[in-house]
Formats: sequence, C-alpha cells, structure tokens
Amino acid sequence: MYFNILILIISFVSMEAIAWLAHKYIMHGFLWIFHKDHHRPGGSAIEHNDFFFLLFATPAIICFLIGFKELSIYFWIASGITLYGFTYFIIHDIFIHQRIKWLKKTNFAYLKAIRKAHKVHHKHMAKEDGECFGMLWVPIKYFKEAKQHAN
Ligand SMILES: [Zn+2]
Ligand SMILES: [Zn+2]
Ligand SMILES: [Zn+2]
Repeated sequence: MYFNILILIISFVSMEAIAWLAHKYIMHGFLWIFHKDHHRPGGSAIEHNDFFFLLFATPAIICFLIGFKELSIYFWIASGITLYGFTYFIIHDIFIHQRIKWLKKTNFAYLKAIRKAHKVHHKHMAKEDGECFGMLWVPIKYFKEAKQHAN
C-alpha cells in the first residue's frame, strides 16, 4: 500500500514538471494557437485552452484502462495524473481565473504566491517571452512577498 501511495505522489509531482514543460515548449510552442486566447483579457466561457485538459486526460484514461482490474501500478499513475488535473483546475481555473465565482479570498501565503506568479505569467501576451510556466511550484520571491503583505 505504501508503495502505491508513493507511486501516486511521484506521478503527481512529475505532472507539475510535465505541465511546466508542456506550457513552456508546447503551449507557447507549436500549439500556441490553442493557448493564445488564454493570454487575452476577457476570454470566452469555453477557451481553446481547454483542449489541453483533454490532452492530459488521455494518458490518464489509458493508464486507468490498463490498470483498474488488478489495481496495478498503472492505476496509481493514472490516479496521480487525475489528482493533479483536478488540483490544477481548482487552482488555475477557479481560484485564479474565477471561471466559477468561488475561493476568491484567501489568507494562505502559498495560494497568494501561486496567484501572483501566474498573473505575472499572464502579463506576457506573446508566444515567445514568458515566465512562471509552472503552477504549484512557486518562485520563492513571490512566497516571501505574499508573507510580507500578510503581516
Ligand atoms: Zn501561457
Ligand atoms: Zn496560462
Ligand atoms: Zn491562466
């Protein structure tokens, strides 16, 4: 059981790295056309950007299909990917972009830092330049800033 939980955690953490790479090199790369409208103010209810959820869901679905019968390692990898996708949606789409009006106010420095970093990412409208491509991994300076403002 501990081994399975470990696999789930490794899968979850790896997803942050994969999401960072995908955001920097794919979404701001050859699939920029799908991500472009996410960098424009006042986007629509459904963004092209949502296509990336499908892209990330596909490996999870495949792993679930392979692993669900025996609850093999694939099942736990799939669980990690799904948990990450869920967390990403809550933080990025609800907490930061308020696609559903919920969780607007927070006193947690960590959450404030995540939001600040992502707002900095959105300051860049173009494909080429950018910073803060990650989500849960926050540069320490934003964390320090958020803590200072809290006191
Ligand atoms: Zn972006
Ligand atoms: Zn973005
Ligand atoms: Zn965003």
